[in-house]
Amino acid sequence: MTIHTPATTFEALTPPGSTPVTIAYGDGVGPEIMNAALQMMLAAGARLAVEPIVIGETAYRGGHSSGIPPEAWASIQRTGLLFKAPITTPQGGGYKSLNVTLRKSLGLFANTRPCISYSPFVATKHPVMDVVIVRENEEDLYAGIEHRQTDDVVQCLKLVSRPGCEKIVRYAFDYALANGRRKVTCFTKDNIMKMTDGLFRQVFDEVAADYPGIENEHMIIDIGAARLAARPEQFDVVVTLNLYGDIVSDIAAEITGSVGLGGSSNIGANGAMFEAVHGSAPQIAGQGVANPSGLLLSGIMMLVHIGQADVAARLHLAWLKTIEDGIHTGDIFREGVSARKVGTQAFADAVIARLGQAPRTLPRPDYAAATAIIPFTPQRKPPADKRLVGIDIFVHAADVSPAALAARMKAGAPGELALTMVSNRGVKVWPTGQPQTFLTDHWRCRFEMPAPRQFNKAMVAELLAALARAGIDFIKTEHLFTFDGVPGYTLGQGQ
Ligand code: NAD
Repeated sequence: MTIHTPATTFEALTPPGSTPVTIAYGDGVGPEIMNAALQMMLAAGARLAVEPIVIGETAYRGGHSSGIPPEAWASIQRTGLLFKAPITTPQGGGYKSLNVTLRKSLGLFANTRPCISYSPFVATKHPVMDVVIVRENEEDLYAGIEHRQTDDVVQCLKLVSRPGCEKIVRYAFDYALANGRRKVTCFTKDNIMKMTDGLFRQVFDEVAADYPGIENEHMIIDIGAARLAARPEQFDVVVTLNLYGDIVSDIAAEITGSVGLGGSSNIGANGAMFEAVHGSAPQIAGQGVANPSGLLLSGIMMLVHIGQADVAARLHLAWLKTIEDGIHTGDIFREGVSARKVGTQAFADAVIARLGQAPRTLPRPDYAAATAIIPFTPQRKPPADKRLVGIDIFVHAADVSPAALAARMKAGAPGELALTMVSNRGVKVWPTGQPQTFLTDHWRCRFEMPAPRQFNKAMVAELLAALARAGIDFIKTEHLFTFDGVPGYTLGQGQ
């Protein structure tokens, strides 16, 4: 049995000053928990004009490969605000991820997940944990630009932009200010990825200087993630790149004790989406037992976003009081700790009955400065003096020694260009290398123009034409530029 909520119940309730919001009831437990979340929000005084849409499984099966039919898009475009219950992604069949489509189409660059322990009421290894993970959502390895280049080697491009870093780092500091947070920690791997992660960290240091009231620190992602898992009480807000954020936010949500209690926001310049962290839980769908808290907590974030922080605060306190009173759904119920095991609707009723009350021991969230965070609009810096100084030519060649490949490249290349390095998977193997280095069929041959001669793009074309005549199987090139005299490329490992 699937409970399909009569959406008109909520559509009919449109208090004065309401904000239009597109509602997706989702799949699995989605309709049940959305129904409960909306009841609690409206009872708390939320001013919402809800527009229900159908996205997800029904739309996929109806032939919309994105899972989002045109009329749903029209509503999302109109309101710029989507409150979304989890959806089921059908297995196989080339269905595109609905979340990725929404994120990219609406430019939702900032994913925020508060990860909070509710000890002793909800079992957790980390009783003192109140961490917010702010994940960059548009860049990094998630651009999906991948290529197979040789028999042995495939690649994925990691793209990081200065405006992208500025937007997410400022968002994290603004979030900290708006939510009474004291510290922002940046996680990168800039000791290895000096240009991409290095840029993220550099922007973090620049932006941090504009927020003197907020402590800042940087950690290498590996030790940072380990520390977060072992001593989460040391963290407050964490900002990081897309892939690290994806992993770290799941770890952080898990160690609070219940992924079912996690809410999230996705904010962009053209819209915002709010959803629970968990999925559609098909095993328990239709039974009326799902915990609506994750969706509710994301709805509370949405209320702040639309300027109804007073309602958000009232509802959040009532929800905390309900948890503290031991009124628990099955996923967090524990004999001896919980007072009453309830289903979805009874939980919602218990929260509504506690509106106006506050928890006695659980920390009270700070809504004093809570407000929507306006995405920062980066200003493009004046262009640098960019000079072409060389080129990396990637070559597919099997069963060849570094010295033999270098000889072939030198013989094939015209003019004054100097072959300065050959590397294999980033490790320098010529002019000198280590005999133990494992060699694949994927090589990088670096040519540089000795000063004072100038290199130019016409010479690139001549070089490639000459290498093609010499039978070199080049598969890709990367130009080497300096920007205001600073090299815009890294050295090979061992160079
Ligand atoms: P899941 O989060 O749905 O379930 C994991 C476990 O947690 C299950 O045991 C489930 O019963 C339990 N659970 C989840 N939410 C609960 C709740 N509110 N109350 C009580 N228990 C709850 O993850 P899954 O099983 O990996 O995925 C199921 C489906 O959800 C898949 O189709 C997946 O693609 C989809 N999904 C959607 C989203 C989204 O829409 N944002 C996110 C994750 C997964």
